[in-house]
Amino acid sequence: MKNSPSFRELDAQYYMPAFARDMMIARGSGSTVWDSDGKEYIDCVAGIAVCSTGHCHPAVVKAICDQAHDLIHCSNLYYVPHQAELAKKLVEISGLDKAFLSNSGAEANDGALKLARVRTGRKKFVSFTHGFHGRTIGSLAVTHKPAIREPFEPLGLECSFVEYGNLESLKKAVDDTTAAVLIEPVQGEAGVIIPPAGFLEGVREICDDHGALVIADEVQTGMGRTGKWFAYMHSRVKPDIVTIAKGIASGFPMGALVARKGLEFQKSEHGSTFAGGPLACATALATIGVIEGLLPSVPAKAERFRKGLSHHNPRVAGLLIGMTIGDRCVAIRDKCAENGVLINCAADGNLRLMPPLVISNSEIDRVIEVVNEAIG
Ligand SMILES: *Cc1c(COP(=O)(O)O)cnc(C)c1O
Repeated sequence: MKNSPSFRELDAQYYMPAFARDMMIARGSGSTVWDSDGKEYIDCVAGIAVCSTGHCHPAVVKAICDQAHDLIHCSNLYYVPHQAELAKKLVEISGLDKAFLSNSGAEANDGALKLARVRTGRKKFVSFTHGFHGRTIGSLAVTHKPAIREPFEPLGLECSFVEYGNLESLKKAVDDTTAAVLIEPVQGEAGVIIPPAGFLEGVREICDDHGALVIADEVQTGMGRTGKWFAYMHSRVKPDIVTIAKGIASGFPMGALVARKGLEFQKSEHGSTFAGGPLACATALATIGVIEGLLPSVPAKAERFRKGLSHHNPRVAGLLIGMTIGDRCVAIRDKCAENGVLINCAADGNLRLMPPLVISNSEIDRVIEVVNEAIG
């Protein structure tokens, strides 16, 4: 693949054109990636908040290689090596009670929706404007953005959408037939939108008044991204279910849900061929070990970004950083790439930075310099 002269032609001819892209990332190490021409970048996209341990962290590579020699797959018909050990870790870091594994964020959310339905016996869901929960039929049904949801309706799940941050509207939308409210504690795809103080507490209270569950979608904000294991830990709120994916296994496909006591799938209620396989579990355990060491450094790194980018009113949730720029987003992103820094355009004219948690101070300073120069 590396330096292949024809990957663009092959892609154009054989791959469905669902993505807008123009370069290939061929190699990565730490916070650095190289494209197929050998050009070097500081990677503040990190596979969309996935590669938190940096690219090809030695402990992660070792876990994958060691496990690949022992057993790659076996099925959940059997106890799976490392699976229970990983579940214990996820329970410990979330403060919840039992875990269930999946292959992606959307699948984790589908699982959470199923769990909420089957344990509450209720059918209706509530989620928020500009929220993003995934692309499967189930997770799409609770995703607000009309442009990605409406072409696929009807989606078979009843969901109402309430303005993010508005507790009065939420009060009107939740009643005794609501199974769950699905919330991102910080909205990622929307461009790093941080709700008003007390919002999560308000959501919890409204749900408690009606016996509805709170599902925290921490697919993007979880696993240390915001400086704590989960973004809800910056509040006094514990969700009933948390969903996890992006940062959990350094890029090995995996998702998870963790739920409080009393919320469990019973025999045959849910399952998956690949989910929670030995390779994924070994990789996630190694990833968690690395993140444990990185967590204490996240707040200072976030502060360094906040200070350096202060002219653009950054929204900083640990190493998840958004800035509203408007219609120059794409031009600014491309200018940064030209100068060796990868950043991302999220929704609605928002730039988003989500570097590996291993990013160094000197790399942060270089990113700040390049981004400030590109914005001008
Ligand atoms: C990315 C994302 C998802 C979807 O995860 P996939 O692994 O792409 O299915 C769901 N929720 C949030 C908040 C996300 O950021």
